[in-house]
Amino acid sequence: MKGYGMLSIDHAGWIEKERPACGPLDAVVEPIVLAPCSSDTHVLHGGNGPKKDLILGHEAVGRVVETGNLVSKFKAGDVVVVPCCTPNWLSWNTQGEYNPHDEGLMASFKFLGSKDGTFAEYFHVNQADANLVLLPENVSPEAAVMTVDMMSTGFHGVENANVEFGDTVVVIGIGPVGLMSVAGTKLHGAGRIIAVGTRPNCVEVAKEYGATDIISYKDGDIVKQVLEMTKEGADSVIIAGGNAETFRQAIDMTKPGGYISNVNFFDISDTLAMPALSWGLGMADKTIRGGFCPGGALRIHKMLEMISNGRVDTTKLITHTFNGFDKIEDAFKLMDEKPKDLIKPIIVI
Ligand code: NDP
Ligand code: ZN
Repeated sequence: MKGYGMLSIDHAGWIEKERPACGPLDAVVEPIVLAPCSSDTHVLHGGNGPKKDLILGHEAVGRVVETGNLVSKFKAGDVVVVPCCTPNWLSWNTQGEYNPHDEGLMASFKFLGSKDGTFAEYFHVNQADANLVLLPENVSPEAAVMTVDMMSTGFHGVENANVEFGDTVVVIGIGPVGLMSVAGTKLHGAGRIIAVGTRPNCVEVAKEYGATDIISYKDGDIVKQVLEMTKEGADSVIIAGGNAETFRQAIDMTKPGGYISNVNFFDISDTLAMPALSWGLGMADKTIRGGFCPGGALRIHKMLEMISNGRVDTTKLITHTFNGFDKIEDAFKLMDEKPKDLIKPIIVI
């Protein structure tokens, strides 16, 4: 079969591989709608994961082609939403609170992490009964593909930020992940939502999702800007973009007793430094959390419920639509180049 991926670090192209085998608990799926992601481009350029001969892609809605003989909930022909993280539900970590780290740090990210991804004619899904969700009748595949990483991750940023009614929340970064955090922050009842970003269409969507104020990191120190606007600082800050310096800024703009919630990928070479005063000399009761995209069927079912019941419209993230399997290459290159007008591209097969 054909797939698009990483030939070696920094070199992408088409790859020929055997169709994946289906274990007794698993499924083989063919894609219907795919979305490239900044995590795919990170891996291509030498980020975490295998370093060569890897089919990329981890955001997909597809059609089941084959199921293992122990799969009871799905059959060939079913249209399914595929979480980007597909934990091994037999591991003890998964049975605890944090399913993303089933067999080690971020190990539930099987696509790209430990096997080929979804940019292929066929891809493998482990433990299909626990990791696949039927596409609801009133949710489009385009809207659904935005749940599997962007929405689950952006909303996780909100969950870790302890947002309460009337809170002032800063969302640093309004790419697709941060935009979902803005939408989730509003749904959690925040009063004021200050979004940090510059791309005009991201700013527009941030306002539509509920941002009450927009500030730019290009207009000077964002800590100063937030402190001028809020006096004491924010109740919570969600980091969904930026660099190592952003970590310190987020702590500095959070008021004592507040929460800092990170979903941004820092670089392996980064050191996250925090002056003691930022943390109130250790006495500020500021909680710092960082989390990875929760996966599995229940999580994505809940995200789909938000769409199905009209709580959030994820299609606002889609700025570019490509048609046909062969267009994976063009869509991926666009994601890698990240032109100013891009939020998320999709490929409709
Ligand atoms: P984007 O690159 O699309 O968006 C990044 C945002 O950060 C943009 O709004 C950008 O502003 C803003 N930004 C850039 N530099 C700064 C800065 N110095 N200070 C403040 N803001 C800045 O990224 P995505 O939305 O796709 O992803 C966001 C992060 O989430 C990435 O690091 C990604 O790898 C990570 N991620 C994490 C996952 C997880 O499970 N934890 C899962 C998926 C992604 P501008 O408008 O100017 O471009
Ligand atoms: Zn992704």
